[in-house]
Amino acid sequence: MVVAWHRPTKAVIDLTAIKKNIKIEKNLLGPNQQIFAVVKANAYGHGAIQVAYAARQAGVTGFCVAVIDEGLQLRQAGINEPILILGINSPVTVPVMAANQLAVAVDSLEFLRQAAKYLQIGQRLSVHLALDTGMSRIGFKKQADLQAAVAFLRNNPDKFDFAGIFSHFATADAKSDDYYQVQLANFKRLVSVVDPLPRYVHVANSAASLWHRECGGNLVRLGISMYGLNPSGKELQLPQKFFPALSLISELVSVRQLKAGESVGYGKTYTATENEWIGTVPLGYADGWPRRLQGAQVLIAGQKCEIIGRICMDQFMVRLPRQLPVGTKVTMIGKDQQNEITIQEVAEYAKTIHYEILCGFSDRVARVYL
Ligand code: PLP
Repeated sequence: MVVAWHRPTKAVIDLTAIKKNIKIEKNLLGPNQQIFAVVKANAYGHGAIQVAYAARQAGVTGFCVAVIDEGLQLRQAGINEPILILGINSPVTVPVMAANQLAVAVDSLEFLRQAAKYLQIGQRLSVHLALDTGMSRIGFKKQADLQAAVAFLRNNPDKFDFAGIFSHFATADAKSDDYYQVQLANFKRLVSVVDPLPRYVHVANSAASLWHRECGGNLVRLGISMYGLNPSGKELQLPQKFFPALSLISELVSVRQLKAGESVGYGKTYTATENEWIGTVPLGYADGWPRRLQGAQVLIAGQKCEIIGRICMDQFMVRLPRQLPVGTKVTMIGKDQQNEITIQEVAEYAKTIHYEILCGFSDRVARVYL
């Protein structure tokens, strides 16, 4: 999808907010803990390269991505710090990871055996062993399997750099810490058979680093709170104020008066009961603005205005408080005068989480940086 530079819809990314959030997080950490910025999925929609540069300036020492190509994108942009690919990959891809110093999550001995065959002469692969402590997604579950993988890594030091060991919490953002405790105990039980430990030991995502600081490790994989959002949505209070980095703005591109009885949009799901002014905004579900947002609110001239009719692929319609000129600013996410619409509100209305809204913005939404 092309970037739509020639329309007024923009995701405005405040890189200063991202840097502030990293500094806040750094102050919460112990002296031996570092931060890897999680910039997968185009930095949760904020733009991977720009976020990586800003995060590096703010003192993160490495990056996490989900897939190899995201790592390559960072390398091509001159990011030379450690990069960890959090997902599992085919052994066939080992040469490209090794050639680009991309560390990879590994959860089977078989992968390592295959990887050793695929590595080209002189290549060395950096590995973080993933532990399944309760997510049931990826990772070693049994001490014996983990020990076998560690032994294989240590017997092949010319081929492998055993760089890290990690796990991921399923409920670090929940009120109850019961399952978090189960996972932490599983983690401790598994790592107890690894001696010495590799240089990176990491379990904390944003939520664990905020609400379970005792979880330990020397590295935090910081995602959602770097972007200024509460990992729990509204379930838990943030211990610190973070600064949301993304706002979404556009302009009215067409303004018309509806007469009572006239309807709006596909399926004519909205019919005016009296004469009223409506406007059209160039943003639709192809941009990642979900159809479920029919009936939600946006800000125009500082006031909350209702989205009416079905959201189209590229446009939606909104009821205006009065006749307003074409070109009037529309804020879908962010502040306008005294009012604000948060991404949390948008996500709740769309019956999802803020992560999904952020990651859903398509390439067509131009990102501009402050
Ligand atoms: N670590 C892993 C393995 C993840 O999958 C993610 C995100 O999905 C993160 C860290 C970052 O999580 P958060 O954005 O909640 O900080």
